[in-house]
Amino acid sequence: MEITVYGAAGEVTGSCYLVETKSARVVVDCGMFQGSEKVERMNKIPASLTSRPLDAVILTHAHLDHTGRLPLLVQSRYRGPIYATKGTIDIAGLILQDAAKIQEQDSQRLNRKLRRAGRNRIEPLFTPETVDRVSKLMRVIDYDQWHSVADGIKVKAVEAGHILGSASIIMAVEENGTSRTIVFSGDLGPFDAPILRDPACIENADVVFMESTYGDRDHLSLAETLKEFQELIAFAVERKGKILVPTFAVGRAQQILYHLAEFFRKGDLAPFPIYLDSPMAIAATSLYVKHEELMDEEATELQNSGQLKHDLSTLVNCESADESRALNSVEGPCLIMAGAGMCNAGRILHHLRHSLWLDSTAVAIVGYQSKGSLGRLLVDGAVKVKIFGETVMVRARVRGLGGFSAHAGQSDLLRWLKPMAAANPRLIITHGEDHPRHELSYKVKQLYGLSAEIPKMGDRLTI
Ligand SMILES: [Zn+2]
Repeated sequence: MEITVYGAAGEVTGSCYLVETKSARVVVDCGMFQGSEKVERMNKIPASLTSRPLDAVILTHAHLDHTGRLPLLVQSRYRGPIYATKGTIDIAGLILQDAAKIQEQDSQRLNRKLRRAGRNRIEPLFTPETVDRVSKLMRVIDYDQWHSVADGIKVKAVEAGHILGSASIIMAVEENGTSRTIVFSGDLGPFDAPILRDPACIENADVVFMESTYGDRDHLSLAETLKEFQELIAFAVERKGKILVPTFAVGRAQQILYHLAEFFRKGDLAPFPIYLDSPMAIAATSLYVKHEELMDEEATELQNSGQLKHDLSTLVNCESADESRALNSVEGPCLIMAGAGMCNAGRILHHLRHSLWLDSTAVAIVGYQSKGSLGRLLVDGAVKVKIFGETVMVRARVRGLGGFSAHAGQSDLLRWLKPMAAANPRLIITHGEDHPRHELSYKVKQLYGLSAEIPKMGDRLTI
């Protein structure tokens, strides 16, 4: 059997593996490369991937860096099944449609410029229609059950604790009378985090492909992060100011709502209006509510008893642009959550322009901010910033809160690997930049005596 790594080798985006036996060809994840223009030029389906027919695609979870090349695969004539958990299918529909819309808007804007310059127009990477074709190929696999996906290949999805529907994939491959178990970690969530269940304990594997996004460090503890968040909110509430939270629509928005509910329930903070100003986050939140079977015990209990709804009685959803604009004239204290998470686009920009210059405003940065993004400038303490070409003074109190993460830190990655390590599997570390990959590999050797492999993009491993 051979496994080729078609992405997420030395970086965290573009996840894609091809598993080939004599009788089957199966793809695990088909993700988009994200980041710089140079990286995004890699968003193609390699000819060697489709040189012979594929039997199936299996997804670990819905994030774009694990699903974003599916429309390209369909454009290159793939018509077979795409297997994923029900939660992943629902969230992937939302994420891929959103990505298609953004790409259409971006290419329209660029084409206007190109036309003025007398140059040829460009096409978006994919359209909403292609995403519809992807959705029609999706097939549900239930958690914790074996599903046959190709000749000699069975898969089982187990909880990964990363976002709704996320899974690690256990693959059993029969070839020449021998059976081998390959584990693909997918993205792993932290243990003991709210809302989702913990990553499942996997006890046996011959080969493990393991993510290493935070292979070199642990996050600040959630308890400390919540304390900082509460203090920041109290600061703005006292001054009747607005608390602005730039947020990712899937996962982070729901986690923040959950913590606000807890603050109100325990009396740590008196309730104030919360505005969820993002149609995508509103849609994602209702998917979380719909899939209560994927929540941990505490979240299920709070949801079923109606407690969560009661705690969040001051929550207002803002669907339309008019509702969003109306927030300009709303008096504080109130909290506004809006996209985009890195403040590089979206409704949050209007709120920042409107309130950053006020010393009663608080800004909570709750997610990763890439270099050069407005969010990063704010966390780094910029005294003035440009928004829509206008200079805005930063008098608001801005805090970066590092402990909200959908990814396991180093200790949790090692904890996940521990039950499998005893079986002495072949370990392949992917989905991380080279520094975290090497740090994690060093720790794994030190703790479990396993030597890890660190493949490059395009490497073909014989198993
Ligand atoms: Zn992910």
